[in-house]
Amino acid sequence: MNFTLKPKGIQAALAKIQFRTQAFIDGKFCPSASGKTYASINPANGKPITTIAACDASDINRAVAVARKAFADGRWSRQSAAERKAVLLKFVGLLEANAMEIALLDSLDAGKPIYDCVNIDIPDSIQCIHWHAELVDKLHERVSPSGPDIVSMIVREPIGVVGMILPWNFPAQMLAWKIGPALAAGNSLVIKPAKQTSLSALRIAELASAAGLPDGVLNVVPGAGSVLGPALSRHMDVDMVAFTGSTSVGRDLLRYSSESNLKRIILELGGKNPQVVLADADIDLVAPHAVNSAFWNMGENCSSGSRLIVHRSIKDALVAKIIEQTKAWPIGDPLDPNTRVGPLIEPSHMKTVLNYIKIAQAEGGQLVLGGKQVLKKTGGNFVELTIFDEVTNAMTIAKEEIFGPVLAVIPVDSDEEAIAVANDTNYGLAASLYTSDLTKAHRFARAIRAGVVSVNTFSEGDHTTPFGGFKESGFFGRDKSSYAHEQYTELKTVWMQLG
Ligand code: NAD
Repeated sequence: MNFTLKPKGIQAALAKIQFRTQAFIDGKFCPSASGKTYASINPANGKPITTIAACDASDINRAVAVARKAFADGRWSRQSAAERKAVLLKFVGLLEANAMEIALLDSLDAGKPIYDCVNIDIPDSIQCIHWHAELVDKLHERVSPSGPDIVSMIVREPIGVVGMILPWNFPAQMLAWKIGPALAAGNSLVIKPAKQTSLSALRIAELASAAGLPDGVLNVVPGAGSVLGPALSRHMDVDMVAFTGSTSVGRDLLRYSSESNLKRIILELGGKNPQVVLADADIDLVAPHAVNSAFWNMGENCSSGSRLIVHRSIKDALVAKIIEQTKAWPIGDPLDPNTRVGPLIEPSHMKTVLNYIKIAQAEGGQLVLGGKQVLKKTGGNFVELTIFDEVTNAMTIAKEEIFGPVLAVIPVDSDEEAIAVANDTNYGLAASLYTSDLTKAHRFARAIRAGVVSVNTFSEGDHTTPFGGFKESGFFGRDKSSYAHEQYTELKTVWMQLG
């Protein structure tokens, strides 16, 4: 994608945006049934961006009904793979043409640096939908070896009406990781974006419709999670809910499913991810990845490497490099193309992060960088990139997901201790391992209990690889790759007796 990131260009693009603020149901924007709205707040200055439809259970019921109708009459679910692919590729084209606008919406709504939205979030979102569009007409069904008098076909079918509940930290990207495979597989969707960040989902739904996605197939219902989440997840006519968010809400979803129609639940949850640095690692290679892993997206990232587990013999030299490189990350207005650190999502979350910093100091962590709220005059929720040295894995900041810019450095004395500390967590989403020894790289990558282990880099893989967690980081499914496609399908056996 060819973006020009000049401040003047950004302001001009911003001035042209017309916010989509109503629910998108049955191919049309519409107000909430109650007529209520809420203000969407810019985390960089505390001011309202616009007002959005505050939907409730009756809006969810309406969206589920139209999604069911669309699914049942086959307007999308029974189109051929080639027809679905053609619409999705047109959708990709419209996303590309409007990429700057979507990047700006996410930057405004979530406080994400425009630099990241333009270079990472939106290109990745578009690639995801493109990848799944290209996959769908290359899949074949199976025939079992059941004998000459039987034709036994094992086929995959779309699940039906799929609810999607999304987080605020990567609004467009988490949406794309779910709608790409779910639409390609032929499902009808009811999407509940995070209350704080609904703008890009509403615009993307409109673009899908303009690309030819039939009405009723992709519906977006904005509003409060505590109201809409249970309404969607307890709904008796929803076949599946794909959720990305916190582990605590993930637990609620399993309960909603068990108390309603046993709908399939896929959970992509939190993390307390280790970056394991063995004594033989090249610290010049490690330092930039470690900074990126800890502080990209202000640490508001499920795969953030918030625990740096490093051999004591190289710890001081590595921490010195990490501090130097962290200081070079400019903090400020997310719409300034030089900014690498924006505000946290909302004042209450900033308070939580600052409280974790206090707890770390009280528990004996050595504060070696940051630790304070800054840029107060802006009205935004800015917190300095913060590093604690000499943390033990028993301390609160090593155990709990902070979801903010706080890195805990945990020194260890052996490779075995490093792996034991890495695995001593309730979570298991992502991990990084740094070593110059190929044998150790293979052995320890397999020994770490996490859904993605990147070696000598920080990475979540690409669209050919699955993303999701072990333990309390996830349940049942994965985003991305053909594994994500499969999870949006049911498996059916058709058993035919020949005469
Ligand atoms: P959250 O759990 O508070 O909210 C997630 C979504 O659930 C939102 O849309 C929210 O409105 C909705 N919700 C709130 N209460 C609900 C309820 N009672 N029932 C149903 N839905 C409800 O999480 P968040 O603060 O938006 O996002 C941060 C969390 O997401 C972090 O824990 C982070 O690690 C996780 N996350 C995980 C991944 C992953 O792929 N594993 C990716 C991004 C974020």
